[in-house]
Amino acid sequence: MQTFVLIGRPNVGKSTLFNRLCGKRLALVADAPGTTRDYKERLIETPGGLHMRLLDAPGIDFQGDALLRAELLKVAEKALGMADGAVLVVDGAAGITPLDIELARWLRRFSKPVIVAATKGDLKAAKNAEEEASRLGFPSVVAISGREGGNINEL
Ligand code: GDP
Ligand code: MG
Repeated sequence: MQTFVLIGRPNVGKSTLFNRLCGKRLALVADAPGTTRDYKERLIETPGGLHMRLLDAPGIDFQGDALLRAELLKVAEKALGMADGAVLVVDGAAGITPLDIELARWLRRFSKPVIVAATKGDLKAAKNAEEEASRLGFPSVVAISGREGGNINEL
């Protein structure tokens, strides 16, 4: 069984996607950035019938408090160390931010397969999300909606 970890800055929609992939709302979903400080782990069966282990890492804010950032990076590194690959989650409606670019650079150091999921695709502002997200330089990019389930099977 393979393990995948959801990585992304705070508030991009990781927990919503995690819950969508699990089919049940087990992870913490909140509006406040940085609410999730440890990773959640679930065994899931995807809509396509794949069994996998899914990890929801805490949102990483490279501009945040240095101690908190170090703590979050440690959790994310631990989760990534256990994973066969990562889903880099970006906010398709907000567009690519300098933090996303920094996170992509950090993620590349681990040499694990990465799929970029540009979520919030149900919002009008997300109409160029896939094109924007390709700027991060990973070949696999998919525009999804964690909230409404759009393109989840493709992901
Ligand atoms: P996390 O911090 O990355 O885990 O992000 P959350 O999953 O907690 O979501 C942060 C905010 O974005 C919440 O207010 C969610 O309701 C909202 N959100 C997440 N996914 C979507 C989506 O696909 N579409 C829309 N419209 N909002 C979303
Ligand atoms: Mg979360």
